[in-house]
Amino acid sequence: MSFESNGSQSSQTQPIPLSDFLSSQDDQHFVWDDADREHSDAWLAPVRTALLDPKKHKVFHHCSKEYLKPPSPFVQQGPELGDSGSTIVYKVTPPEGHAYRRPLALKVIVCKEKSRPPGPDSKARSDALKEVKTMSSLRHPHIVAYVASFEDYCIQTRQIGRRPRGKAHATLLSVNQRIKKHILGIAMYPPAMCNLHTFMDEVFQSPRAADWIIPHLHTYFGCLAQAVAYLHRRSVQIRHKDIKPDNIVIDDFGLPVLTDFGLSKHFETGQDSVGPTPKTLKYADPEAMHEERRDERSDIFSLGCVFLEMATVLLGQPPGFAEEQLAANRDGDGHSISSSSGSGGTSSADFNYSDSLHNLDAYLTTLSLLSRDIVASDPAREPSIRAVLAILPHIRRMMSETQTSRPRAHQLYPWFRHLYDVYEIPGPCPNCEEERRSGRAIPSCRRRSGSRSPTMNRNGAVGGSQPLMRRGTAGSMAAAGAAMPASQPHLGPYGGGAAGPQVDGRVDSD
Ligand SMILES: [Zn+2]
Repeated sequence: MSFESNGSQSSQTQPIPLSDFLSSQDDQHFVWDDADREHSDAWLAPVRTALLDPKKHKVFHHCSKEYLKPPSPFVQQGPELGDSGSTIVYKVTPPEGHAYRRPLALKVIVCKEKSRPPGPDSKARSDALKEVKTMSSLRHPHIVAYVASFEDYCIQTRQIGRRPRGKAHATLLSVNQRIKKHILGIAMYPPAMCNLHTFMDEVFQSPRAADWIIPHLHTYFGCLAQAVAYLHRRSVQIRHKDIKPDNIVIDDFGLPVLTDFGLSKHFETGQDSVGPTPKTLKYADPEAMHEERRDERSDIFSLGCVFLEMATVLLGQPPGFAEEQLAANRDGDGHSISSSSGSGGTSSADFNYSDSLHNLDAYLTTLSLLSRDIVASDPAREPSIRAVLAILPHIRRMMSETQTSRPRAHQLYPWFRHLYDVYEIPGPCPNCEEERRSGRAIPSCRRRSGSRSPTMNRNGAVGGSQPLMRRGTAGSMAAAGAAMPASQPHLGPYGGGAAGPQVDGRVDSD
């Protein structure tokens, strides 16, 4: 591994804003070493076919029993950032003495199809490698950045005893070698402080933290709209296919970052096509529910559902309130709706927004009525609530049942950027505003790591980049980050081969 240094060793260990990370090309500095590297063509040919850089994607098979730990040079920092059985996310940093020291998120996916792991020449593997390659080309200040990836596999050798004629003792013969486990890992920047799900919950659990969370949450509409507009650009043309709060992480600077581009789907099931599962359809568009042809406006529907939950929180209700109310049978006049219980609402594995759209208009009316009570009890929130009420019609359009009635991603930013204006801090997102003016997601030659940047100014830090977790007002978010794995069942490293919950399984019928 080598590092083409452009800063001091100590500064490389510090988190920097994602836009600085990209514009300084920090992601290009990580290179795998050659230890235990796989050399067989069966394994390497698909990597070449996918056009993955072998300096960035290493294939090896494990040589020790420490199979379940992040591989060298990555050293786990703290508890797992997330664990859903077949997928685990670690925060890692290469150890002291290594040239590359930036903290990263390491997502490790284990193929859980025991009888049919992907193997070197499977279609599931080549599809996953192509998706890694696609992800490696994305460069946006609100989309997670690829740094490196690896595959690790182990071969199981079954031994049988045979007693040769005339011999008293049996001898063991090794037969039937097969791939027992196959793991795909992707190192990304930035590591998450928490995800949007936790972030929204925090508003209700810690009123003091809400003082700064609410202004930040205001800015996420515009930033996420720009991230999805980037994906849908003619030159990029990627559908995310699984936009939901769990797949939006908040970094140390309080910036929202879209992550998880569906690259685990083929790999973890070992299958070429992955159908829907009831658990994963909450944010799915009506086309997915009915297995109709989908296009990029499927993402718009899912983003609309996320925006609805964000708006619900900003209007003073718990994030689960939308689900609780939309799922309920109601008389349509809104009077049967109870006010917030403060519990976050009941959560049902069967709930999905697509099946509840007939209740959506009544819900939006109710949300507006309840927000009057919030203003009456806390007049300081009136500017925020007024601004959020103004975006409800746009969210309604994003959640149109008919695909053709939904807006395109490039239309969204102007509808939501005025939310930046409600609070002085953090204020407008300079990256997204610059993208709006210039059309470039990452301005070239803008900054070097450690210099002042628009992103740093945005967070109100005086004179440079201060991660939020180090600021006095954000103490509770460190706890929120630590609490994040609790939102999903912990099933041990790599799931231990156990049948964990299906992580994601959105249908893609076209
Ligand atoms: Zn932004």
